[in-house]
Amino acid sequence: MEKKKLLLHVCCAPCSPYVVDLLSQDYEVTLFFYNPNIQPEPEYNIRLKEIKRFAEENNLKLITGDYEIDKWTDYIKGLEHEPEKGKRCEQCFKLRLETSLKKAEENSIAYLTTTLTVSPHKDANNINRIAQELAENCKVDFLNENFKKNDGFKKTNLMGKKYNFYRQNYCGCVYSRKKIVKK
Ligand code: SF4
Repeated sequence: MEKKKLLLHVCCAPCSPYVVDLLSQDYEVTLFFYNPNIQPEPEYNIRLKEIKRFAEENNLKLITGDYEIDKWTDYIKGLEHEPEKGKRCEQCFKLRLETSLKKAEENSIAYLTTTLTVSPHKDANNINRIAQELAENCKVDFLNENFKKNDGFKKTNLMGKKYNFYRQNYCGCVYSRKKIVKK
């Protein structure tokens, strides 16, 4: 039986192996890298290069979104100094999920989900809630997931070892980076 198509928004390569493995049991997975939150640009290019390598090595389709840093900056305007997990992050998720839903629709892909919930630093309920609100008037079904369940984060790290991925030490935006640089 032909598998249903699913678009998987991927935040970075290290978060992807376990999620892709799990979803590929039931879906034909296409990756979508859309993360205009990542700064500075050389860092964005490194993370993009790593996901391209992962897709190539696993024969997966990868769609790359635009690096719309100005759009991201507009979305988080006024929330720059919010703490991580606060309102700035909600807007950041909103942009990435909204664009992913549009991309799924454009490509006639009926299902969408994201690797974002595999991270222990991200609240899956919050991400699922935002995505469901955005998906209300759209033809794409967003799958509520919490990939960190059942040791998902540990599993993705173990599976990622064979790729020797570059591993970032901050979430992505300049504000999350400042926090690290200060330490
Ligand atoms: S900390 Fe991460 S999720 Fe929050 S705004 Fe920055 S890049 Fe986006």
